[in-house]
Amino acid sequence: MSDTIFDRIIRREIPADIVFEDEHLIAFRDIAPQAPVHVLFVPKTPIATLNDLQPDQAAIVGRLAHAAAEYAKREGFAEDGYRVVMNCNDHGGQTVFQIHLHLLAGAPLGRFGT
Ligand code: IMP
Repeated sequence: MSDTIFDRIIRREIPADIVFEDEHLIAFRDIAPQAPVHVLFVPKTPIATLNDLQPDQAAIVGRLAHAAAEYAKREGFAEDGYRVVMNCNDHGGQTVFQIHLHLLAGAPLGRFGT
C-alpha cells in the first residue's frame, strides 16, 4: 500500500494548507515554497513516479494540469503566467514517491529549475 506523506495529507493524518480537492486529486501549498505561489497537485490514485504511469492512467496527469490552470485563473495570475513541473527519480529531484505536479507562480521565474 502506498504511504507517502501525501497519502497522509489526503487521509488528514497530518495538516496541510489545502486549496482544492475533488474526487480525483488534492492540491495544497508546498511546505518549502520555491516561489511566491507554490502549490502541489496530487492524484488520489497511488502512482510512485511518472515512469509507473500506465496508458489507461494518462488522464490522471491531464487532470492535474487542468486543475492547476483552473487554480491560476481563479487566483488571477493565469495571464501573468506560471510554471508546472513534475520531477522524476533521482536526477529529476523527486523526493516524494507519489506523482505530483508543482505549480510555481507569483514572480518572473528563472529559465530552469523548480
Ligand atoms: P519533489 O521533490 O518533486 O518530490 O517534491 C516534493 C515536494 O513536497 C517538495 O517541494 C517539498 O517541499 C514538499 N513537501 C514535503 N513534505 C510536505 C508537507 O508535509 N506538506 C507540503 N509539502 C511538502
